[in-house]
Amino acid sequence: MHVKLNDEVIVISGKDLGKTGRVIKCLPKEHRVTVENINIAKRHMKARRADTQSQIVDKVMPIDVSNVMLICPKCKKPARTAHKVERVQNDEGKLVRQMIRVCKKCGADID
Ligand SMILES: [Zn+2]
Repeated sequence: MHVKLNDEVIVISGKDLGKTGRVIKCLPKEHRVTVENINIAKRHMKARRADTQSQIVDKVMPIDVSNVMLICPKCKKPARTAHKVERVQNDEGKLVRQMIRVCKKCGADID
């Protein structure tokens, strides 16, 4: 997926079009992400016990990852990403290949 946990994203389709938020959950198998304050569903919670009250709670629902675009942390613009492979040292000091995302707008490494 082109977005990861804690990425800042902008919604590019649907009812939350143009809104931005932080990715709080990734569901790669379903190609969905949960973004804070985006795609909020009102859940009507009915009181089941005498000491609880019926209430409406906001629940953040996951949205399709194709409906969001990454906001580049460097240029702060919605950007498509390219990938490059870099050799980096892992915890054991070995050189391993790692995919790094690059902003197509400003060319900065994202991670
Ligand atoms: Zn950028």
